[in-house]
Amino acid sequence: MRVAVIGGGLAGLTFAKHASEFADVILIEPNDFMVCQALLPELLSGKVNIEDLCVSIGEFCDDFGVEHVRDKATGIGNGIVFTEKKEIECEFAVIAVGAETNYYGIEGAERTYNVNTLEETLKAKKALDNAEDIVVVGSGLTGVEVALELAELGYGVKVVEAMDRILPTFSPKVSNFVYKIMMKEGIEVNTSTAVVRVEEDGVVTNKGKISCDLVMWCAGLKPSEFVRNLDVPKERGWVKVDETLKANGFFAFGDCAHVEVDGKVATKTALEARSQAKHSAENLKRMLRGDSPKPYRIRSSVDRPIAMIMLARGRAIMIYGGFVITKPMGLIYRMKKWAIERFLGYFRP
Ligand SMILES: Cc1cc2nc3c(=O)[nH]c(=O)nc-3n(C[C@H](O)[C@H](O)[C@H](O)COP(=O)(O)OP(=O)(O)OC[C@H]3O[C@@H](n4cnc5c(N)ncnc54)[C@H](O)[C@@H]3O)c2cc1C
Repeated sequence: MRVAVIGGGLAGLTFAKHASEFADVILIEPNDFMVCQALLPELLSGKVNIEDLCVSIGEFCDDFGVEHVRDKATGIGNGIVFTEKKEIECEFAVIAVGAETNYYGIEGAERTYNVNTLEETLKAKKALDNAEDIVVVGSGLTGVEVALELAELGYGVKVVEAMDRILPTFSPKVSNFVYKIMMKEGIEVNTSTAVVRVEEDGVVTNKGKISCDLVMWCAGLKPSEFVRNLDVPKERGWVKVDETLKANGFFAFGDCAHVEVDGKVATKTALEARSQAKHSAENLKRMLRGDSPKPYRIRSSVDRPIAMIMLARGRAIMIYGGFVITKPMGLIYRMKKWAIERFLGYFRP
């Protein structure tokens, strides 16, 4: 069976590795490297190098007998994946195209910097050379990690958050704990403050202008162009899969998918991306045997997330279901680094 995997991020590579055991896999991915996004804030601050967070897709494909088509998919037809350069015939296709930076249509926001991709992070790192005061827009996991990394380097950091507390998707206990650390680091936190426009020398908010030399945009994600053009069921633009992770005859998983099972919604995290990809590969195998696909079980849901948040200076905390583990932060940091290394080792020869 010829299976096309659209997107070679964490989810796509995980699926490709498992599916290569029982199918001919074609990976459609424009980049030569898979990037571990969790380390991008530390790439920004210079704690890690590019090679620490990249997996060579060429080596991965050689190792697992996967064909790499270095191209961007534009659509799916009847047994065909259309790319910018050609048409690829396949018997089954899976969608793992991740997400894009969401600027919410805010004027000037597209000129800001972010850490969502390797290229964007390197661009931001270069721009930091000529900056002293930085505004970080958004205080989810990425915004908090970026703000603390930059504060550790000695930049003046101001965080702007539209909601009434930082880390709004986590419990108030997590928010309060991290808020106190940000205060100690001298970070100015502006909650209930919404950016309405980005200008050359700062951001204009509903409460007035905040001047700075550089704006880091960590305010959220939106579905990619490929997903926007796809004729499948959607939830707020994301591919809405059923409990077996299927939508209109495709599997979709990772950041591009809205996964809702038994009233729980999966978080857009590496843990979920990998677990959904593995489950989809197992389901495809079952379908090939003539068995029906099994329902997926969410591990990290929006109401009970699993996450480790890095807080700079070799510190991290862990959120596991309803619990917050804040001690010892040095050990939790080392655990996170170890988990990432193991995670990347999974794709390396
Ligand atoms: C700064 C940052 C920090 C993070 N920290 C953590 C963390 O600490 N813990 C955690 O669990 N999660 C973290 N995440 C989230 C985690 O990285 C993502 O959930 C995970 O990478 C999702 O995997 P994915 O394969 O769905 O998407 P991605 O890894 O984004 O991969 C999508 C791939 O699809 C490709 N693609 C896109 N469009 C097309 C197309 N049209 N055709 C072909 N290919 C296409 C892209 O080039 C990309 O390679 C973080 C994310 C960011 C941005």
